[in-house]
Amino acid sequence: PDQYQGKGDFPVNLKGRVAISDANPSIERDDEKCILCGQCVEACKNVMGVYGNYPLPLKSEIACVNCGQCVMWCPSGAITEKRNIKEVLAAIDDDTKHVVVQTAPATKVSLGEEFGMPPGTSVGNKMAGALKEAGFDAVFDTCFSADLTIMEEASEFVHRLTAAKDEIPHLTSCCPGWVKYCEYFYPELMHNLSTCKSPQNMMGATIKSFYADKMGIKPENIVNVSIMPCTAKKFEVAREELEVDGNRDMDYVLTTRELAVLLKSKGIDLNTVPEREYDSVLGESTGAGKIFGATGGVTEAAVRSAYFFATGSNPPADLLSWQPVRGMTAVKEATASIPGVGTVNIAVCHGLENARQLLDGIKASGSSKWQFIEFMACPGGCIGGGGQPKSTVAAQN
Ligand code: SF4
Repeated sequence: PDQYQGKGDFPVNLKGRVAISDANPSIERDDEKCILCGQCVEACKNVMGVYGNYPLPLKSEIACVNCGQCVMWCPSGAITEKRNIKEVLAAIDDDTKHVVVQTAPATKVSLGEEFGMPPGTSVGNKMAGALKEAGFDAVFDTCFSADLTIMEEASEFVHRLTAAKDEIPHLTSCCPGWVKYCEYFYPELMHNLSTCKSPQNMMGATIKSFYADKMGIKPENIVNVSIMPCTAKKFEVAREELEVDGNRDMDYVLTTRELAVLLKSKGIDLNTVPEREYDSVLGESTGAGKIFGATGGVTEAAVRSAYFFATGSNPPADLLSWQPVRGMTAVKEATASIPGVGTVNIAVCHGLENARQLLDGIKASGSSKWQFIEFMACPGGCIGGGGQPKSTVAAQN
């Protein structure tokens, strides 16, 4: 820690910093495979905007947000996600357990790469078929709970705009990498974060309450698994503050890469597996949930829903010119006019170095010109997450 260096003048709060060690729930390292190339530190620098002058192989306690971008760039396999494949296979083989799986939107257009398909191939129904063939008892779609998140978050945003103005700007909270970054470096903004759980954990809570009740299954006999593009989601599910009476919403997170390993270990080929539907009701969703996987998607869904909550009417097609919140520009800006609320200024930011510059600008000016700001840790949002096929990185370049 005493070698820590930051680019900016941060109120650095390193309480709870995480070493790349056995204690890190997301990432682990094998020093014998490290070739001292420094790609991991460069990735951390590029994504985080702050970095340690860490000796290699990485051992020190660092301000790790668990995003896994170092994993994407490590060429030797010295840094990998902490795998949970064995635990999930054991749960599937345990007849006393009801094993439920959910799949995040970004994984449905990336898993195919692990089976030789072109980047961007949509494999959602093949994925559902493969998961059922692998032995999961129910297959749900995280897009369902992304819809729940949007209903909650849009309601909260309207409340903050009209009645809790000291909590403006409203900062999104569905990216655990960004949330950890905020905790480390901008703790004074914690009360601006949305109080909503992420779609992953809303789904977990719904399965262990509503679904368990509907199916007559004890929550403790349900094993909740998620397929995520994200290593930070492994950290998120381990957060004690998300437990209810000692029970976690979610039990295991598998990255897109881990799922490919699991399916191949069972001899399941995504190219030939029959397509299946997601299970009802938690497998159904609107388009709002689907666009969470890319930078700007949460904003687009939240602002349109906020319009509905504020006015009781669907927003006009030209509420926002959507082009500004889509695409790979570091910080995108847009405005929306909501009757009874006024003009809402919006910013969408991906990459934590970009977040640092944006937040430092707000601090320097003393106020925010935006009322709603979306943050995603990874480049491009979850589609560029640290748990995605490594070929995704190659395709981006
Ligand atoms: Fe995970 Fe998405 Fe955040 Fe990256 S942007 S850390 S993939 S939630």
